[in-house]
Amino acid sequence: MSLVNAIDLVREADAKNAAVLSFVCIDYNEARAVVNAAEQTGKPAIIMLLPEYVSRFSLNGFGEFAAMVQFMARHTDARIGLHLDHTYDEAEARWAIECGFTSIMFDASRDDLQTNIRRTRAMVDYAHARGVAVESELGSVGLASERWGEKADLFTKPDAVALFCRETGVDSLAIAIGNAHGDYLQTPNLDLKRLDEIDAATDTPLVLHGGSGIPEDQLVQAFSRGINKFNYGTDVKRCYIQAIHDYMAEHDPPGSLDVLGIPATVQQAMTALIVRKLSLSRM
Ligand SMILES: [Zn+2]
Repeated sequence: MSLVNAIDLVREADAKNAAVLSFVCIDYNEARAVVNAAEQTGKPAIIMLLPEYVSRFSLNGFGEFAAMVQFMARHTDARIGLHLDHTYDEAEARWAIECGFTSIMFDASRDDLQTNIRRTRAMVDYAHARGVAVESELGSVGLASERWGEKADLFTKPDAVALFCRETGVDSLAIAIGNAHGDYLQTPNLDLKRLDEIDAATDTPLVLHGGSGIPEDQLVQAFSRGINKFNYGTDVKRCYIQAIHDYMAEHDPPGSLDVLGIPATVQQAMTALIVRKLSLSRM
C-alpha cells in the first residue's frame, strides 16, 4: 500500500466520530514501531516528524525522513500517514512540501489572531495548490512543564474558531483546552465544555496535542466530542529511554557488540506501548 494522506485519515475519523492517533517520531526505530503496531492492531496511524529532530543537522533530513516513511508505507498493509509537526516558518514549510510531506502543521499561534489568520491563509493557498493539507493552531498549547495546560487565558476561544477556520481554509485545527506538550506537573483536566463549544463553532476536524499523561477516560470523552487527531510524543520517548536503560543494565559492562541488540529491543518495547495506545482509537 502507498502512503495515505494524513488528512484523509483525519476526515475518516471525523466521519466515524473517532480520532486517528499520531506519533511524533525521532528516528527509524520509533517509526518502525508505529508501523509494527498498526499492522498488529489493524488501525491506521500517522507518523510525524518534528522539524527540530532533523533540521538542526541538515534540511535534507526532511526528504530523508519522508522517503523512509514512504518506503515503510509501501511495504505494509497498514494504513500509514506522514505529517510534519509544528513548523513556524514559511520557508521550512515549503521545503517540507518539496520533500514529499503531504500534510503539514503550520503554527502561527504565537502571533496575534489577525497575523495568524493572514500567515496561515497564505500557507494554505500555497499548500493546497500542491495537494498538501494544513493543520494550524489557535490558542496556545505550550509546554506542560510551564503549566500552559492550566492557563485558561491561553485556551482556544470558541468565538474565534469559526472566523479563523472560515478565513484561513485550514484542513484541521489544533486547540488548547488544558492539554500541553511534555510531562504534566499534575494530572491535566481537559475543558470538555469548551471542546463542545469549539466543535459546535466549526466543521473543521479538531486536533489535540500533548496526549501523553491525559487520563484515558478524558481521552475517550474528547474523541467522541470532536477530537479527530490525537498526538502522542512523550510517553513513547519515555518508553524508548527506559528500554535502552534496561538493556544496558542487563549488559553491564557492555561489550562493543552489545549495541547491536538495541534496535530490536527498543522497537519491541515501543511497539507494545503503541499497540495499547492504538486500542483507544475507535478507527
Ligand atoms: Zn504539538
